[in-house]
Amino acid sequence: MADQELAIKIRGLRKTYAAEGSSKEKEALKGVDLSIPRGSIFGLLGPNGAGKSTTINILAGIVDKTEGTVEVWGFDIDEDIRNAKANIGIVPQEINFDVYFTPFEMLELYAGFYGIPKAERRSDEILKAMRLEEQRDAYTRFLSGGMKRRLLVGKAMVHSPPILVLDEPTAGVDVELRQHIWQYVRELNKSGVTIVLTTHYLEEAEELCDEIAIINHGELVISEKTPDLLKQLDEKMVVIEPVTPITEIPDAIKTIGGKLNDEGAIVIHFSPSSISVGEILNKISATNVEIADLRTEESDLEDIFLQLTKSKEA
Ligand code: ADP
Ligand code: MG
Repeated sequence: MADQELAIKIRGLRKTYAAEGSSKEKEALKGVDLSIPRGSIFGLLGPNGAGKSTTINILAGIVDKTEGTVEVWGFDIDEDIRNAKANIGIVPQEINFDVYFTPFEMLELYAGFYGIPKAERRSDEILKAMRLEEQRDAYTRFLSGGMKRRLLVGKAMVHSPPILVLDEPTAGVDVELRQHIWQYVRELNKSGVTIVLTTHYLEEAEELCDEIAIINHGELVISEKTPDLLKQLDEKMVVIEPVTPITEIPDAIKTIGGKLNDEGAIVIHFSPSSISVGEILNKISATNVEIADLRTEESDLEDIFLQLTKSKEA
């Protein structure tokens, strides 16, 4: 993909947090490459501690990278941080802001920080989009958790950036609010905003994102269009050892993708969603191949998937 079609381009990104007190140096990112297309909803997926927030915070200019290059809307953060920042809005993981302002005052304040003239401010429009019109003049400390989160999204949008980054937008929110957030993300994306979100829920990434990158222990595991990634998650392998090694695969087994390996065993790659091991065995029993042993193997991605779902339950 040509660079001008990328919203964010990250190459060889490393971050080592300095040792502090009793803690050792921490290599949070070990050379990550990411290409995030303009116009997409891009999911950065990974278990807790994977390095998602570190990546986001480097984009936001909150954390200094150790090594690598980062371009935001074509602007290198080392060469032109001003333009890089002008093109991105970040919604941090933690809800954390001054509760003594009203939502309207807060948006006006941030518009001021960005040097947006009064006539060009969109505070009321943003409040409406966030369904916070009724809370326009209420003290922020009286807002519910969900309202505060929506206000944070609004705050990230005051300068109308073409890229909006949401760090764990639905962590710890109830099902109903999660649906609201998803809907709003989709609306923003339809209006042309590139969305980057982090999550440790595979199903969230699956539901919302056009492309998904998985990171684990500071390393990129995979970055693919969502359907291609799901295809890989849905892949298993079964190895069937016949009692006597065979030299040719029976046709009935060929039709389900069976191949012969060097040891005269049958290897079948299959999608558990379309055929079960039981059905495969039935097909084999129908031939004259006698089964001595059988083992199934999952792709590495499946292990990661399991790990991710485990951290979801925790
Ligand atoms: P994620 O957002 O995917 O849960 P983080 O980027 O927050 O992961 O953290 C990645 C790793 O870096 C973790 O091991 C975390 O403990 C460590 N880390 C994050 N922030 C700091 C920091 N300020 N100082 C030291 N280590 C940190
Ligand atoms: Mg995080």
